[in-house]
Amino acid sequence: MYTELRRPCRTMILVNPHSGRGQALQLFTGHIQAMLTEASVPYTLVITEHQNHARELVRNADLTQWDALVIMSGDGLLFEVINGMMEREDWQQAIQTPLGMLPGGSGNALAASIHHYSQSPPAWNEELLLSCGFMLCKGLVGSLDLVSVHLASSQRLFSFLSLAWGFVADVDIESEKYRHVGAIRFLMGTLVRLASLRVYQGRLAYLPSSLKNYSLLPSLCQPVPENWTVVNEEDFVLVLAICHSHLAEDLWTVPGAMADDGLIHLFYVTAGISRPALLRLFLAMERGSHLAYGCPHLVYEKVRALRLEPISQQGMITVDGEVVEYGPIQAQVHPRMVFRWIY
Ligand code: ADP
Ligand code: MG
Repeated sequence: MYTELRRPCRTMILVNPHSGRGQALQLFTGHIQAMLTEASVPYTLVITEHQNHARELVRNADLTQWDALVIMSGDGLLFEVINGMMEREDWQQAIQTPLGMLPGGSGNALAASIHHYSQSPPAWNEELLLSCGFMLCKGLVGSLDLVSVHLASSQRLFSFLSLAWGFVADVDIESEKYRHVGAIRFLMGTLVRLASLRVYQGRLAYLPSSLKNYSLLPSLCQPVPENWTVVNEEDFVLVLAICHSHLAEDLWTVPGAMADDGLIHLFYVTAGISRPALLRLFLAMERGSHLAYGCPHLVYEKVRALRLEPISQQGMITVDGEVVEYGPIQAQVHPRMVFRWIY
């Protein structure tokens, strides 16, 4: 169900000039600026000066001045904006501000997913950017789920996309150094990580999607509720919880995902998978056909909440592609605490 953006739509566009290959601003002026002028969308451009600039700005801004906030960057800048909104006292109202995404980063998972939900033929790079610019001009607003994430330090974060541990988190962070090549950095990172493939020990439990969850989760020091499923294996190559269809522009990870399906799509790969088999899974993900292999090491569950407790001393956990404190972590989807999104 869609509503329409107010016209004229007073839009704040946040650009991270360092995202992707460092060309977000040029991409904006080259491809989007004229489109917005043509569609009579009044906008103010804000160029971020440092990490967490957008987060602080959104936390303190007078949001009544804006009908929409648009992020021209990768998923990392949107993560800042959403968390900045949720840190406000008036978060319930703040999170209703329609958000939009113009893919300018190297990791544009949400933009790729939104484009996919629009049933347009697949698009990459500038073509994906144009499609998202067009959606912005159309100005239809729908809703997306939000996931709350709890860390051991009792810090709480909000996630719109993913929680990753093991192979996927390592590739995401280690490939940052290849960001100048754009989205292909994930393939390069995958090949490098495959060469030093490792096993990560930990405990994983989840609330299956067949069971509804209306209460908040117990704290991380309490046992998981009795109706949760506890995974027997403790040796993993990766754990990935994702809320949308795409993990990157060319990684169609969840073929059946929908914008606000109220689900966390949980994937894990258990130890013992061969390097070629793991590579095959990632290559097949480009066409969304990885589940069709029937790989015995790959498990896919639809869940409402999950908890991960790493046992391995070293490793990385990412939320929406950003590194978070390493340690026990749990997450829960809030289908009724949606935020609004421009399609
Ligand atoms: P990419 O997809 O290329 O990684 P992101 O949007 O994820 O692009 O941004 C990468 C990181 O840069 C994020 O951690 C974000 O918080 C941070 N960031 C945002 N603005 C700036 C800035 N002006 N300078 C440096 N880092 C920034
Ligand atoms: Mg990023």
